[in-house]
Amino acid sequence: MMTVRELIRQTEKQLEEQGKDIQVAKVWFYHLANKEPHELYLMMDEEVDESMATSFQDGISEYLKGRPIQYIKGVENFFGRDFIVNQDVLIPRYETEELVEHILYAIDDYFDDTDQIDLCDVGTGSGAIAVSLKCEEPRLKVWATDISEKALETAKTNAQNNDAKITFMQGDMVQPLIEAGIKVDIFVSNPPYIPVQQEIESVVKDHEPHVALFGGHDGLYFYRQIFNSVEAILKDKAILAFEMGYDQKEDMEKEVKHYFPDYPFEILKDINGKDRMLFIYKNISKK
Ligand code: GLN
Repeated sequence: MMTVRELIRQTEKQLEEQGKDIQVAKVWFYHLANKEPHELYLMMDEEVDESMATSFQDGISEYLKGRPIQYIKGVENFFGRDFIVNQDVLIPRYETEELVEHILYAIDDYFDDTDQIDLCDVGTGSGAIAVSLKCEEPRLKVWATDISEKALETAKTNAQNNDAKITFMQGDMVQPLIEAGIKVDIFVSNPPYIPVQQEIESVVKDHEPHVALFGGHDGLYFYRQIFNSVEAILKDKAILAFEMGYDQKEDMEKEVKHYFPDYPFEILKDINGKDRMLFIYKNISKK
């Protein structure tokens, strides 16, 4: 038998020796014990029972083999809520919380006196963006699409678990919305944007769905596809909000000017100072 302290120390050492993130020992323990970080110190001298120790070791060995801890836990927190994650969906990223935050600011700035705001999230994956927005802003009516049936199943569960009413549609990018004749005030997407040839960490490349990661030779394939067809689903006044790759600013500006020569737009930086979000304004004067 071992105490919690011993188990965590021993695992941190093992993680460190293998060049892995030592935080994972505690993160995984909190998850299994269903405890908040501030509760851990109270139980440091408790003995770990056998089934707990076995589950703990099993997870750590999966992590040491390279599997992301979020998939091992099966859940990731995003914008203060828990989302189920699995190999069918991208793990929600911190940067994407910033996209959600900026969309909420835009709603305050431009739709303050609107009772119902129609919004779509294209390529919803786990549903993290759509669900967070709906929970934060009840005036939103939300549609979310994905090409992957399996991703949509996960997104639907996440919406149910968070009591978010969202209409999910399966199909390629904006296609299902066009077919259903839907028009939105706000268009949102975090499409796959990594250039196919780009070297990325193996923890991402070997485990997360490539359909959610790679966006053609320059990463902009899906943006062009969206820019080319999105007009059909926009209301007269609308905002388009995208996540984008940190090194795509110049190329992105060219594409936006090409497809929307008359619409003002801006590229916003994330907390790390990296170009990360694109906002385009249709018939709305930018504040
Ligand atoms: N931000 C993700 C990554 O760097 C990529 C997400 C995407 O392509 N939309 O792994």
